[in-house]
Amino acid sequence: MPPLNLLFLSTTVGPLGSGMGGGVELTLYNLAKVLTQRGHRIVIVAPSGSMCSSFPVIEVPGTLQSTAQTQGRDAFIVMPPDPVLATMWTLVQQAHTEYDLLLNFAYDWLPFYLTPFLQRPVAHLVSMGSLTDAMDQVIEQVSLQFPHTVAVHTQAQADTFPFAERCRVVGNGFDLSLYQFCPSPERCLGWVGRIAPEKGLEDAVVAADKTGIPLRIWGVLQDESYWQDICDRYPDAPISYEGFLPTTELQQELGKCLALLMTPRWIEAFGNVAIEALACGVPVIAYRRGGPSEIVIDGKTGWLVEPDSVSGLVDAIARIEQIDRQACRQQAEVEYSLEAMGDRVEQWFADILASKW
Ligand code: UDP
Repeated sequence: MPPLNLLFLSTTVGPLGSGMGGGVELTLYNLAKVLTQRGHRIVIVAPSGSMCSSFPVIEVPGTLQSTAQTQGRDAFIVMPPDPVLATMWTLVQQAHTEYDLLLNFAYDWLPFYLTPFLQRPVAHLVSMGSLTDAMDQVIEQVSLQFPHTVAVHTQAQADTFPFAERCRVVGNGFDLSLYQFCPSPERCLGWVGRIAPEKGLEDAVVAADKTGIPLRIWGVLQDESYWQDICDRYPDAPISYEGFLPTTELQQELGKCLALLMTPRWIEAFGNVAIEALACGVPVIAYRRGGPSEIVIDGKTGWLVEPDSVSGLVDAIARIEQIDRQACRQQAEVEYSLEAMGDRVEQWFADILASKW
């Protein structure tokens, strides 16, 4: 495809590199990487303090948005004073005609609402499943008015929306050269993610307690009181908090684990950490719901467990030796390479640009 001028609009719940934006941060970085390799020109607009080496970033000041997953279904759209989100889209209004296509990563009402007011196509990569009626309505409106422009990561994520059939499923892709295969693990389990209630960390902690196998935990402490509550409830569990690490260090540590536990309460849209584990040769034990249930090949690259069943986790941990770590790495290479993602996203953009604007 001919080189495009692309404007990326980042999440507004945190600066890039902070971890507050969850998987969106790595997804944005990986897409910038593969599309740049293919000759496209990328400019990223993101909140002040963003760290995204090797790509031009326009840093925008202002108050961050609160995270959507903490609200109820009938929640109103909330806008703080001096919102970074609105300032970003003022900049879009002024500069967007310099670009061929805009790619929005923010799970927020405003970018969808503003889409019809612009003279360039806006592609929306939706990073979470259905959470509120207000968001569902505005995303659906865009999907009707601008066919092809709404993409998601998995079919399970699409199925949470009433307009699932109009969502394009693009999966995700990773620079697998950054992840080293680790053939011989240590006697420990891993858990990686934002430490927040929807991630269900407590189930992994109980599973570690029951098996006596140490659980190492990496990720941003997004909800301190939730973490404190876990520490208070399970004071003797063999767990250690290892902090929030950059990808290169995270993969080194994660690779040493017997398995990654994924215990989300919500329908995880994708679950970047599943692929990062597989890329290191680490099998994934996950609840059979949302993105991980589409990623893990049960019995081959990990085990899928009845949702919310800690005894299911314990059984799966006991059977972890049956999983060939080489098969895990291979699955990541075949299905989740940066190249495969680049092909899917270029085709997505081509379909958008071929539509009437
Ligand atoms: N992550 C990281 N360092 C850590 C722990 C996590 O960079 O120490 C990143 C991880 O690479 C992944 C993201 O945090 O990209 C978590 O994303 P995921 O899709 O698993 O869940 P989300 O937070 O989006 O719900």
